[in-house]
Amino acid sequence: MGWQKRGSGKKYDSMSGVGVAIGNETGKVLGREIRSKDCRTCTYWEGTGVEAAMHDCPRNWYGTSKGMEPDVGVSIIKKIEEKKCTVSTLIMDDDATTMSKIRQNIDNDITKWSDIKHVQNTLGKKLYVLPTSYRKSIRKDDKAHLMKCFTYAVHSNKNDKQQMKKDLSAIVPHVFNEHENCNARWSGYLKNPQNYTPTIKSSNLDLKLNKIFHDYIDNIDKLVPCASTKENESFNNMLTAKAPKNKHYSASSSLEARVNCTVAQKNLSFNYVSLVNVECGLSPGKVTEKSSNQLIRKRKLHLTYYNSKEYKKKKLNKKRLAKNENNVLEIREGDTYKTEIDMLCQNLQETDVISNPLVVEELYPVQNIQTSVPCIYFDLSLSLNCDIVQISVAVNDIHVFDQYITPSSGISKYASEVTGLSMCNNILCYNGRKVNSCTPQQEKRITVLIMHPLMYKC
Ligand SMILES: [Zn+2]
Ligand SMILES: [Zn+2]
Repeated sequence: MGWQKRGSGKKYDSMSGVGVAIGNETGKVLGREIRSKDCRTCTYWEGTGVEAAMHDCPRNWYGTSKGMEPDVGVSIIKKIEEKKCTVSTLIMDDDATTMSKIRQNIDNDITKWSDIKHVQNTLGKKLYVLPTSYRKSIRKDDKAHLMKCFTYAVHSNKNDKQQMKKDLSAIVPHVFNEHENCNARWSGYLKNPQNYTPTIKSSNLDLKLNKIFHDYIDNIDKLVPCASTKENESFNNMLTAKAPKNKHYSASSSLEARVNCTVAQKNLSFNYVSLVNVECGLSPGKVTEKSSNQLIRKRKLHLTYYNSKEYKKKKLNKKRLAKNENNVLEIREGDTYKTEIDMLCQNLQETDVISNPLVVEELYPVQNIQTSVPCIYFDLSLSLNCDIVQISVAVNDIHVFDQYITPSSGISKYASEVTGLSMCNNILCYNGRKVNSCTPQQEKRITVLIMHPLMYKC
């Protein structure tokens, strides 16, 4: 079902909706229905208080917009069955009560398959909108990992119910480092146990994630065929080109004409205009035929290219690189676009852009060191504010100077892990033990050492 209004995900109040049934094998439109709540002529005459004259009225729906989908579903199936065709399976998303209404109104038994893309999106929404109590225990990468496992378990076990069930049940224990039911095809632990690090460490998520995944295991019959409604999405895109959502066409028969054109384009391809002309006793039109043939050729070439494995790989790579680049740029630029940013942050003109990283010159090992010349090595450790916290000097491998200096600010956790230096109650410690340190003002030799010409030669 496609709506003639851009959806916000919260409000469903489109004035009209278009539903189509498309054959899974052929990709052709089998039936189409339009529901509209508006009619320009009726609205005008209602305003004047006079009954409208007979007209081609597009208004055929008086209920809510949400109720259009089940009604359209039943109506299309009934029309198909009237033509002595039997509908045995329906592929659709799980958002509407269409299926139960169809079962109430249609006599024969109809099986339902879920649209796998829609199922993946819903799982993503469930994981990304976890209750606040769980959010701290799960990182963004863990959610992406769970999604990847789910997608792999479903797509690699198409039409294999038992294996899909087994793989889906193994996902949650796998992320908690239990790999008894894992499959070597996808489990990183079974491939290389030494290099594997468990993703989620917190156990309070266990029950919540199990509940989410068990809902899919219980409905495994709907997932097993890995069915897709991509043809319907493609139809909706085609319709958007002919009836843009920012224009209001549903108040007249314009919408119906546009839907009919889209159905013709879907079923007969771009040369439907020439075919309609011939049907009406008109010339097919030389230019029309030529341009439609060009479009058909172009479309064929595009389809072969876009469906190739190389293109898909290239696209994924490009997307990943662009995302990384964007993340870096966002950090460097700071907040540039945010809801009400201009109202909440008054001192925006002071926002600085972080400059490009400095290019560090490549260092080469010192060659031909003469043992007669004293060779001085020095090492500096820095704190959060770039204060020097330690200076050591060695001449020809012999320690001649080693001094700790208390920094004006703390030392970051990560720097402490590397250097072993940390601040505890304003006392400088090395590996947790207090060291003899002084303030930079007390230690005048620091300046002398740094200014000494020998340092520059090192
Ligand atoms: Zn009307
Ligand atoms: Zn595993």
